[in-house]
Amino acid sequence: MIYFVSLGPGDPELITLKALHTLQRADCIYTPVPTTSKGRHTSKAAEMMRSLGIREEQIQLYDLPMSKDRDGALEAYTLVADEVVRRQESEPEALLVIVAEGDCGFYSSSAYIGEHIEARGFTTHQLCGVPAFIACNSLLGGQLVQLEEQCTVIPGSATQEEWSRAWQSPHTIVVMKGSLCEAEIKEAIQRYPERRWHYFEFVGMPKEFVTSDPEEIQGRTFPYFSIIISKCR
Ligand code: SAH
Repeated sequence: MIYFVSLGPGDPELITLKALHTLQRADCIYTPVPTTSKGRHTSKAAEMMRSLGIREEQIQLYDLPMSKDRDGALEAYTLVADEVVRRQESEPEALLVIVAEGDCGFYSSSAYIGEHIEARGFTTHQLCGVPAFIACNSLLGGQLVQLEEQCTVIPGSATQEEWSRAWQSPHTIVVMKGSLCEAEIKEAIQRYPERRWHYFEFVGMPKEFVTSDPEEIQGRTFPYFSIIISKCR
């Protein structure tokens, strides 16, 4: 069996029981370690699983290059998919897990890995989890959207027309991958002061930072792990 398991946004207590039980039974858990030109970083996913009592010998780390050029990452996903297929062919009874942050069906790298595995004729299963933007809203309290309101999610990049339409709409706007659109967000905060602006970094992790103060947002350098939620109320 091949499972994509969602870990949730970072706080180990936000994993589902189903996901945890699947990790506990897994023979091998394919886990990304971000790498940059500075070398290997710590794997948030691995640290979280260790804190939940997952055994070191279950965790199979794989390097995931983090750069604007996506070729390195795509190559890493292909290698993982090949390894998963090879292992499943030689051990059909093995329970193999590929983990993903947040929900594995929401802007997740699992998509590339899954496509390769399925193309090789294997079926994959998917366990849902708490997406980061839902965890962000619960820090604010209240509804992300209510009654007839709509929610638009923008994954960091959009055309100028799409941005303008979003800010001028009455909708709640969720922006993922803040590092890709820092200038756009900072400009929009000045141009649309009637909107409420909420900013989140590293939610559920030790360096979590949250602010709803436009001035404070202007002073931040947005990391990749940031989300902006803009509401009309
Ligand atoms: N599958 C994930 C999203 C992956 S896309 C989910 O369901 O949430 C990666 C983007 O998710 C990041 O650029 C960031 O915008 C957001 N993200 C994921 N985890 C986060 C966290 N703990 N804190 C803030 N943003 C997070």
